[in-house]
Amino acid sequence: MDHARLVESLVRRGIIKTEKVRRAAERVKRELFVPERYRRVAYEDIPLPIGEDQTISAPHMVFMMNELLDLEEGQLVLEVGSGSGYHAATIAEIVAPSDSPPSRWGTVITVEINPKLASLAFENLSKAGYSSRVHVINADGSMGLPLRRKVDRIVVTAAAPQVPPPLVEMLADGGKLVIPVGSPGFWGQDLLLVEKRGDKVMKKYITEVAFVPLRGRYGWS
Ligand code: SAH
Repeated sequence: MDHARLVESLVRRGIIKTEKVRRAAERVKRELFVPERYRRVAYEDIPLPIGEDQTISAPHMVFMMNELLDLEEGQLVLEVGSGSGYHAATIAEIVAPSDSPPSRWGTVITVEINPKLASLAFENLSKAGYSSRVHVINADGSMGLPLRRKVDRIVVTAAAPQVPPPLVEMLADGGKLVIPVGSPGFWGQDLLLVEKRGDKVMKKYITEVAFVPLRGRYGWS
């Protein structure tokens, strides 16, 4: 499959629903985020190895999560699990679109626990032109980050035992968090949409998913 046909098929399958998620899918070249030897299959709708026993998620999972996040230009978004940097770039294309003036741009902060992958994400994002919109931090993202303001959206791209309390704490009023929760073994994981309204935290089950395990303080040891 090529890039255009992949996006078209995700639209046809109802995964991509909104114009902004579609535009971001069209603009970010996944071939720049996969290892050289997988470049030929960069636009197949499958996860691919990125080293360190980790994977770049399948495109349908990335865009399903982006639709659930309900992203808007100008937002501050936190991603836990940078991996290749691809997912962060697709979020950046919505909160800070390439054809918008930088004065309106939001920011993506992506946290990666593995130093080698944090470097990989940084390099990929720089080559693809996202280094001023996406900040890569090498840390345990399950503990959240000590930021000066609350964040609008959080996406976790590894499966957690439960929703990490520090992440809920970091969310602004009206904020949304998308996270896979369940076992560390690729089965029995639920994708959850968590919404914070005042002091209420609502959790909605979306679908069954298969992610690598979240490590760190609120992950699997
Ligand atoms: N979003 C990535 C794919 C992520 S794979 C992409 O677009 O390519 C999951 C990633 O989460 C792995 O790179 C893994 O090292 C990282 N990870 C696992 N536990 C973490 C934690 N506690 N904090 C930050 N990153 C973590």
